[in-house]
Amino acid sequence: MPIVKLPDEVASQIAAGEVVERPASVVKELMENSLDAASQNIKIIVEQAGRKVIEVADDGDGIPSSEIVLALERHATSKVHTTEDLFHINTLGFRGEALASIASVSRMTVISRTASEDTGAKILVDGGKVISFDRIGSPKGTTVRVESLFYNVPARLKFLKSERSERSLIAEFITKYALAYPEVRFTYVMDGKEKFRTSGNGDQREVLAALLGVDIAKKMLPVSGGDGSIQVNGFVSPIDVTKSNRRSIHIFVNRRPIQDVGLATAVINAYHTMIMVGRYPMAVIFVDLPPEDVDVNVHPTKAEIRLKEKDKVFREVGRAVRKSLLAFTPVPGVSLSFGQKDTHNIPRSPGENGMGIRNESYLDEASKDVGIQGAQTAQPRLGNVGDESKQGEFDQLHPRILRLIGQVASSYLVAEGPDGLYLIDQHAAHERVLFEKLTKQKSNKLAIQKLLEPVVIEFSHQESELIQDQLPILRGLGFELEEFGRNTYLIRAIPVILSNIDIKQAIRSLVEDFEEDESGLDGYVEERLIARICKKAAVKAGQPLTKEEQERLLKDLESCQSPRTCPHGRPTMIHLSVNLLERQFGRKGAR
Ligand code: ADP
Ligand code: MG
Repeated sequence: MPIVKLPDEVASQIAAGEVVERPASVVKELMENSLDAASQNIKIIVEQAGRKVIEVADDGDGIPSSEIVLALERHATSKVHTTEDLFHINTLGFRGEALASIASVSRMTVISRTASEDTGAKILVDGGKVISFDRIGSPKGTTVRVESLFYNVPARLKFLKSERSERSLIAEFITKYALAYPEVRFTYVMDGKEKFRTSGNGDQREVLAALLGVDIAKKMLPVSGGDGSIQVNGFVSPIDVTKSNRRSIHIFVNRRPIQDVGLATAVINAYHTMIMVGRYPMAVIFVDLPPEDVDVNVHPTKAEIRLKEKDKVFREVGRAVRKSLLAFTPVPGVSLSFGQKDTHNIPRSPGENGMGIRNESYLDEASKDVGIQGAQTAQPRLGNVGDESKQGEFDQLHPRILRLIGQVASSYLVAEGPDGLYLIDQHAAHERVLFEKLTKQKSNKLAIQKLLEPVVIEFSHQESELIQDQLPILRGLGFELEEFGRNTYLIRAIPVILSNIDIKQAIRSLVEDFEEDESGLDGYVEERLIARICKKAAVKAGQPLTKEEQERLLKDLESCQSPRTCPHGRPTMIHLSVNLLERQFGRKGAR
């Protein structure tokens, strides 16, 4: 066949393959147009998961009737005009492809009127061909109705996902834009039923409930931070509300929902040592940057972007999230169980300690997607930081003086605190204490203890390769290790904090850990290494402690920056509030 230039129609259908992958993409593109037109009200109507009807009606700027035919052509846009414009895009659209693409694979009606015109215009397009154009009376704004999507591309129809998955994706797009534009009133009607409506009063938390469910939305912690031209805002889940995948991390850049592994990872990393490996937080993060620092022109659906100062943005996101977590991380509370009539119904899981106290959300939720600690309360108890106004008052966050009562089962410390009873897991608590001491020490001057006799330790070839890589970090932490012949090392000194452990055993098990760890440790090698050492070095459960040791541990824990979890993310303490005790003893009416 000879080379020919494709007719516009065919070119549009090819482009449609990229821009309009599925019904949800139509909803997305049309909403973006409405938002770009400064609409205050957007109504979305969907029938049969978008295969039959997708209609988006707005009260925005409208399209001048003289331009409406043009608007449906490829590469026709009012949003960018020069190459220069491409470098600071502040609209959601800019490619001038959506309307043309959608029109080429459906039967489309557009009705629109601008504020300055008395009558509006109505255009009918079928498979990309204009069928009719009329002037008609219409309210200000634009309504785009898309019917019989993909009717002329049967191959595409065949590959559509199930109606259910399409509906859920449509709902997700709508809620995301509603979150990013809380000042706009969204109404979503599906198969004749109103599914979703926002008030447009600017309250993001209200919309958050639609995206994540009321229960979780209530628990989400506010995030706010950033530096200079980078602003970071949004919500993240507290450390005891986790998921088994990262799909609930929603990122927006300049109010555009995007997919960016790097930014999502920055959020996840902020939870480092606070949640279990393999669990993921939920988050809605808005990053705002000068438009010239973002390249949106990377992907036809605009779902991916390029950031000019990637690392800086990641850092700011991480810092903002971390700040929020430190400010709001609550002590796990206790679920209702002693002697209540449903006690026997509560299966005893590894997360329960037999008293019906659930202390580890991640253990009993394996089968559930979202884990919420049964006992979780919205209010952080220690330090009274329950509300946003207190965010950042770090001094208040740490436990106030806990009064030691004693040790139970040679494993738990019991203490009285500001509002009731605290049970402290001595091993987890000690891990946290050691972790923070070691991390802090490495930046200050290390207290090192020279060993009277150097300890000789021998590794296999492979092990010694592994340890070779970690030597600088180990040295930085205060281990004096020196090579002594092939695969053999001399340990001459250790950090003082670790002076009471079997050092050979500790280093050995570290090496074993390196072997198992195929994952790239990224920027956290050191922290993970420290966490491992601490695990080995911490007092074990079942180990009786003297009164002095108990006091010491409690006091050390109080002075930690994140006293509420061990470096692996398990809680160090659980709390039985006075209120709960009163309820359990029947002094107060049950809720
Ligand atoms: P883009 O959004 O990339 O500019 P589209 O094909 O989505 O491309 O839309 C083409 C043009 O039609 C837009 O630039 C805009 O001028 C106009 N338009 C589309 N939808 C609307 C709307 N809802 N309100 C006002 N103008 C619209
Ligand atoms: Mg558009």
